[in-house]
Amino acid sequence: MVLGSIEAGGTKFVCAIGNTDLEIIERVSFPTTTPDGTMKRVVDFFTQYKNELEGIGVGSFGPIDIHHESDTYGYITSTPKSAWQNFDFVGTLKKAFNGIPVAWTTDVNAACYGEFVAGRGTGLNSVVYYTIGTGVGAGALQDGIFVEGFSHPEMGHMLVRHHPEDNFEGNCPFHHDCLEGMAAGPAIEKRVGRKGQELSEDDPVWAIEASYIAQCAYNTTLILSPDVIIFGGGVMKQEHLMHKVRKLFSEMINGYVETPSLDQYLVTPKLEDNAGTVGCLALARDVVLHL
Ligand code: ADP
Ligand code: ZN
Repeated sequence: MVLGSIEAGGTKFVCAIGNTDLEIIERVSFPTTTPDGTMKRVVDFFTQYKNELEGIGVGSFGPIDIHHESDTYGYITSTPKSAWQNFDFVGTLKKAFNGIPVAWTTDVNAACYGEFVAGRGTGLNSVVYYTIGTGVGAGALQDGIFVEGFSHPEMGHMLVRHHPEDNFEGNCPFHHDCLEGMAAGPAIEKRVGRKGQELSEDDPVWAIEASYIAQCAYNTTLILSPDVIIFGGGVMKQEHLMHKVRKLFSEMINGYVETPSLDQYLVTPKLEDNAGTVGCLALARDVVLHL
């Protein structure tokens, strides 16, 4: 079975072809521009496999409409990227590929699913995935089902306490000093004047960064008591960071709940940058097999 994956990110799209064993056969990446320009490249890529392609899994930046009964199911909704507001993503794919089955979820849910089927979440019931990159996003799975209510979770915008030595006011356009506003890559860059990847391991900003991620882990633990919390995204490429997060988390929890051992509980993705693609392939497989 040939399956398609689309990781639709705010800065780039990654399209891939894979099989039922979730092996990635071919992958391309291009910048996110307008819906017309970007979707033409998506359609051109998958058209090469048109005869064999059985289903496509999409993990999209959002917010997106995930309600099957809604008139705008499969749309990107109120995104700050104005060209993409109210864009009918699933409809565009179905139109281009003769009604092909499409699995539709958020980019972080897709990465969460990838880690659930083939990464740190295998064999576990409750998995939470955060990405700390250009923004902060989160997805959560309970027994293989995405946690959602009126919409998908938006835990990346939870409130956090300011670190005592942090004067940064936050840069979330909606809430200023929420988790994303304080801890996403652009917040680090704005504070220090350089990108995270250019800073040394002992730069004081990492203690500040770790304090926000530890608060995120603390809140997530108390709300969901999941089996594992996975932190991916560009900022987590700082390998020393997770160690700092575990230490601060442990101090904050202060023995109140007994979590799994922290080196198994607060982790980076096993699939690294493939979590989203593997998740989209798995979701495509599920939708084709009606799982
Ligand atoms: P996106 O969120 O757009 O999908 P990334 O997850 O790569 O992309 O996140 C990009 C952000 O992560 C940028 O703000 C960048 O500065 C930061 N970043 C990327 N690599 C690193 C690194 N090695 N260390 C710290 N920050 C990084
Ligand atoms: Zn916010």
